[in-house]
Amino acid sequence: MRTVTLRSGTAVPALGQGTWHMGDDPSRRTEEIDALRTGIDLGMTLLDTAEMYGDGAAEELVGEAVRGRREEVFLVSKVLPHHADRHGTARACHASLRRLGTDHVDLYLLHWRGGVPLEETVEALEDLVREGSVGAWGVSNLDVEDLDELAALRGGPVPETDQVLYNLTRRGPEYDLLPRCRELGVPLMAYSPVEQGRLLGHAALREVADAHGATPAQVALAWVLRHDDVLAIPKAGSRAHVEENRAALELTLTGEDLAALDAAFPPPSRKHPLEIL
Ligand code: NDP
Repeated sequence: MRTVTLRSGTAVPALGQGTWHMGDDPSRRTEEIDALRTGIDLGMTLLDTAEMYGDGAAEELVGEAVRGRREEVFLVSKVLPHHADRHGTARACHASLRRLGTDHVDLYLLHWRGGVPLEETVEALEDLVREGSVGAWGVSNLDVEDLDELAALRGGPVPETDQVLYNLTRRGPEYDLLPRCRELGVPLMAYSPVEQGRLLGHAALREVADAHGATPAQVALAWVLRHDDVLAIPKAGSRAHVEENRAALELTLTGEDLAALDAAFPPPSRKHPLEIL
């Protein structure tokens, strides 16, 4: 499995697994757990979840999927902004750990910026690193100004990653966020890399896919993964989708493919405020 190096030097799989909406529908539970375990078997060992997802239901499902295999996976979870104060961050983290059935998450992210000062959240996150409940901390949905504000705090804290919306239809980060992250040595973690499925019927994507005997989802993922400092965390609720997504790593897009995709999904020519789903 190809890896991406986080800010502190930890190598993680370039292709991980998302979990938003997993655990929402009890009739899909067995299939979703099977999907996550299949992904782990295939090397997609980075699992992304959050206290927000199903009010903890996704974390519980992830906990069940990784039972007995905790050492094989790199667990990522997130604290809600309104919990991210001095004491609330630790409370939220410990509740996530109970649901996940583990004593630590490998990476803990501020889900998005809310009313709590960044400095207070960072101090709380660093306390969790010191106590061992969290391997490292990062952020999500922070645009350039927020990252710069973070870097200007005492000690110049730099997150492990910034998890943001990035796919063919959401190319805004290429204009300034991706370049700024590169200066900081922070890889982007691309969420909703197939735009929650909405992207997959697009004619240009289908054309490139057909030329490779691939699927639109694989082209969309290969496109995100064309950067060696960008990770993708698609959510797939079935074994078939997980296997299909894993194979995207074997697909290399040509210059011609990239030009065709640029024509259909133009790169940004000016600043776009970071979009959020
Ligand atoms: P994705 O772009 O990953 O799309 C998920 C949807 O695509 C599901 O409906 C899934 O269907 C479908 N899908 C997946 N693989 C295939 C395939 N090969 N062929 C056809 N359809 C496919 O959207 P998400 O919003 O779920 O983003 C991924 C993850 O990123 C989330 O699950 C979450 O962990 C994280 N995230 C983080 C956010 C943040 O604010 N930090 C915001 C949004 C997401 P099915 O389930 O049937 O396989």
